[in-house]
Amino acid sequence: MYYGLVFLVLFALTIGEIKAFPKNLKESRVPRVRVKRRFTEKNAMDYLRDFDYLPRWMEIGYGAPDGNKSKVKVTEAIKLQTFGYFQQRAALPQTGQLDAETMTEMSRSRCGNPDPRDPSKTLNALGRTVAKWDRSEVTYSILNSTDDLPRATIKKAIGDAFQLWSNVIPLNFREVDENGDIKFSFKVRSHGDGNPFDGRGNVLAHASHPAKEPLSAYTHFDDDEWWTNKDGEEIEKGNTDFFHTAIHEIGHNLGLDHLNEKKSIMHEITKPDNLVDRYGRYIEPRLHHADIEAVQKIYGNRTRATVTVTGTLNPENGTKTVTCPTRVDAVFADAGITFIFMGNETFEINAKRKILKKIPIPSLFPDGPKVNFTVVLDHITKKLLVFEHGGDIHAYYYSRLFHGYRKAYTISSPFWRPLSGAFSLNSGATFLLDTDRQVAVYSVLIGSSSPFMPVHSNFPTNVRGSIRATDDDSKHFLFTPTRVYLYNGKQEVVEKEWALDEWLSCK
Ligand SMILES: [Zn+2]
Ligand SMILES: [Zn+2]
Repeated sequence: MYYGLVFLVLFALTIGEIKAFPKNLKESRVPRVRVKRRFTEKNAMDYLRDFDYLPRWMEIGYGAPDGNKSKVKVTEAIKLQTFGYFQQRAALPQTGQLDAETMTEMSRSRCGNPDPRDPSKTLNALGRTVAKWDRSEVTYSILNSTDDLPRATIKKAIGDAFQLWSNVIPLNFREVDENGDIKFSFKVRSHGDGNPFDGRGNVLAHASHPAKEPLSAYTHFDDDEWWTNKDGEEIEKGNTDFFHTAIHEIGHNLGLDHLNEKKSIMHEITKPDNLVDRYGRYIEPRLHHADIEAVQKIYGNRTRATVTVTGTLNPENGTKTVTCPTRVDAVFADAGITFIFMGNETFEINAKRKILKKIPIPSLFPDGPKVNFTVVLDHITKKLLVFEHGGDIHAYYYSRLFHGYRKAYTISSPFWRPLSGAFSLNSGATFLLDTDRQVAVYSVLIGSSSPFMPVHSNFPTNVRGSIRATDDDSKHFLFTPTRVYLYNGKQEVVEKEWALDEWLSCK
């Protein structure tokens, strides 16, 4: 009774302290000097076993395919093979030995899911059935939060992470309060799924593939990590980026395994220098083409939906099936042709708003970004500027010789805010829009922009780009992902609006 009381008082004091001085807790997050614990061969073998380089039965002595219950010795030959494979994934020299570089790589923070040599085998070994989402809308719920980040930040990061995947596959994602198809939660240590977390560092999160009956998946984040979000400085201190981790884990929730491509989102290890540039600024993560290829292998491309348009393309033939874009990621017009970008495709549209053709983005922009960019035609330099989200700015010119755009140059972006769109005026002004309804004037010649200022309150939200509606430049068609607005720039009012498919006569 007495001890119980003391315990209660102490407990209350602790709670009171944490609540009263949350700032102090944050400030105690001093830059981390990694004190390297000695990494032994035993640690290395644990790593190889935990992440499925070694068949699990080999070390723990049960579950062998031939029913052999005795512990099998890990031979030198097996070690050589497994270290070699780890080194290959990590793009290290394949010595087959536990050398210093290999130990450093093994002590990095990583995802807790295994790194399969043969994905089908791993899934069988874990007794899981591979499933995929068989509906076009998948819901998700965020069950709890972490003290490290505001709940709104978590919500936004998870929403944006889904958007990156949704841009390239025909799936939409919607948050619901609870009982979503995919459930996100923060957990520590042992948490009931047989895969305990390990405290701070090393394993950051893990996630399930879609499981059947009911079709569902989950992601667990290790709450012993010190989470931060899109903050270069904090990442350099050794804290963990939530946004990047969420994109990666959602990849598993869609059915992906780790990819043997170091720069992909789905690689198991993310080095901090992939997330922070040399000025200490956060680099907005993007899907690598290996990620896109892997996920499209399961779900196909975003643009697969087709509609039938009667007699528009070729009146002689009567009916013709064309694919219509269902979303605008970016848009620009040049010499009377409007180019609408969706996923990794470009739709060319004529002045009568009819779709002429559809081509893959790389054939329009050789050596440029394949997805996630904003594009604008700069009327002063006549250059087409492609702003890679979180990356470089690529300038293109139209080549008559090649009947297409050729790359003029690439420069690194002076912005560290996410752009959502851009538009330009005949007068030569090029405007950049960010995701917070702010606008800045960009100058190609000096390679920088004015400060970002709020847009007029009548200006639609989430504008990706615009094309001129009148020759005198007073009216523009503004494109958001699914709607088109006729905007009068002189009076700053929306005069008319359409759903994208109405505007395009695609219904
Ligand atoms: Zn993973
Ligand atoms: Zn878990």
